[in-house]
Amino acid sequence: MAEDFLRIQNVSKLYAGVQALDNVSMSIGQGEVHCLVGENGSGKSTLIKIIAGVVKPDGGEIVIQGKSYKNLRPIDSINEGIQVIYQDLSLFPNLSVAENISLNQLIEEKKKIINWKEVKNIASNVLLTIKKELDLKEKVENISIANKQLVAICRALLRNAKLIIMDEPNSALNANESERLFDLLRRLRDQGITIIYVSHRLEEVFSISDRISV
Ligand code: ADP
Ligand code: MG
Repeated sequence: MAEDFLRIQNVSKLYAGVQALDNVSMSIGQGEVHCLVGENGSGKSTLIKIIAGVVKPDGGEIVIQGKSYKNLRPIDSINEGIQVIYQDLSLFPNLSVAENISLNQLIEEKKKIINWKEVKNIASNVLLTIKKELDLKEKVENISIANKQLVAICRALLRNAKLIIMDEPNSALNANESERLFDLLRRLRDQGITIIYVSHRLEEVFSISDRISV
């Protein structure tokens, strides 16, 4: 068994009368595709937000790469290499594909002047590493959901993601697009990146998972 990348121990979360999570424990092995499955309202998104440090659990512990966090902040999660791709994808619709992929990186480098060539180079390099092609100049609002997800994955990779979490990416994809996404996630896994794939549809996660938590 691979070493755990992440361990969640006895985590609970109560929202104004709703017990979203009740004493949940699970572990995510290093370099595995782990599917998190449960019906709507079962607390999957809440658990992910806790792992991202954006929701505080009422109790319990989160251990990332052997380090225990009692009070995990978003910056801790990012520094541990955790990148969450939420259902809304958090992209800038009126900016180009290349800009959406590259801007974070250029901002982090505190670039005062950003030129298109640099933006394009960063984006095309990361696309090359995952053997995918996108029209770099196209505005993100004009591309398919599947390609938007690709943009979000590229952005996560540029932030040196060690764990990529996708919240219900399949709900907007057709069978073909899902299969291509699975294929990419498996390739990322083979490069050592850990994947958590969230879904409420059990049948389609069997084909991709190394492990499943329900
Ligand atoms: P899932 O992603 O599995 O569909 P969620 O984590 O979104 O489940 O929600 C779990 C439960 O917590 C649901 O009953 C939901 O209504 C409730 N919940 C989620 N977020 C909040 C919130 N911010 N405030 C109050 N209740 C919430
Ligand atoms: Mg959800």
